[in-house]
Amino acid sequence: MGQDVSYHSLFDFKEISQGNVADGNQDHFELFAQDLLKAKGFYVERSVTRGRDGKKDMIVSEVMKGAVGEKKVFALVSCKHNAHSGKSVNDVIFDNVNSVLQQYDCEVFIGFYSTVVSSGVEEELQRHKDSRASSLKGYHIVDRSVIVEWLVETAETLNVFKRHMPVSYRRYISSDSFSGVYSEVPTAACHYCGVDVFDGFDGNVHTIREVKYQGFSDCVEVNKIRDVYFTCSEHADIRKCDYSQNFQGSCIVHDKSKVLSCVSPLGYIKKLMDDVRLIRSGYYSFDDDSFRKWSNLQRALFYFVSRSVESPSKNLFISRFNNYHLK
Ligand SMILES: [Zn+2]
Repeated sequence: MGQDVSYHSLFDFKEISQGNVADGNQDHFELFAQDLLKAKGFYVERSVTRGRDGKKDMIVSEVMKGAVGEKKVFALVSCKHNAHSGKSVNDVIFDNVNSVLQQYDCEVFIGFYSTVVSSGVEEELQRHKDSRASSLKGYHIVDRSVIVEWLVETAETLNVFKRHMPVSYRRYISSDSFSGVYSEVPTAACHYCGVDVFDGFDGNVHTIREVKYQGFSDCVEVNKIRDVYFTCSEHADIRKCDYSQNFQGSCIVHDKSKVLSCVSPLGYIKKLMDDVRLIRSGYYSFDDDSFRKWSNLQRALFYFVSRSVESPSKNLFISRFNNYHLK
């Protein structure tokens, strides 16, 4: 699909230094892999080490939960950064794969690659897995397209994206050519200094809620959003005003969320659905002014998470929604 090609070109892995150039940044790609795997929930057991043959590997683990218990699974991560040459990865298994897996008690192999992978690679891994002599129980190929998907998944992975590939990150965030929903990039000014908090997403969204209980009971009489505003990171901790003066006899609840966590697709939909659930409960309400601010916020955030979908294949579309039990 043409759209896919241009979308993928937003992500330039050449921003990550080449491994074979001795400029002090040779381990950049491995550190990037390490940060991204951590953001995805893996635990780094052993960070990048350089083997005798110059190979750089790391060990990560993941806790697998089943019906009767849980088990920690160790995986050997092998990184290949071919983005600068553009070559696909043709071989993954090194000669002594078994001894390396056994040495670190690993059952799983993760290939982490910045380019595409040739078709023989999976066959080679499968062969190893099927071999009696092998201690390999499973493998996972994290190639360029998987990395691209992961980078924009959550606030944590977006942070890794921003730190390691700042130019691509800015291009991704400010790109509106795919969404076609709005013609201009929305802005959100810090309440104190006017800085646009959507520029770099370093700020916070604040929600002020008035909560009032009925007499001494636990029944909530009022649960109203009274204000929604933004601050840059520098002004995040200043109180806008003393709301308790305005709403006497009420508790004032001040919620603060990082803007970055609201512009990842998962963060966005989670926060929106949380708010919708609260509204449905019947206890949650807005005054007109704060509802306008809340709606504007949702519309602005949607700009950053929406991407247009050009005639998606049916299965692809359904698979995107499987988690929501839409059938
Ligand atoms: Zn500010």
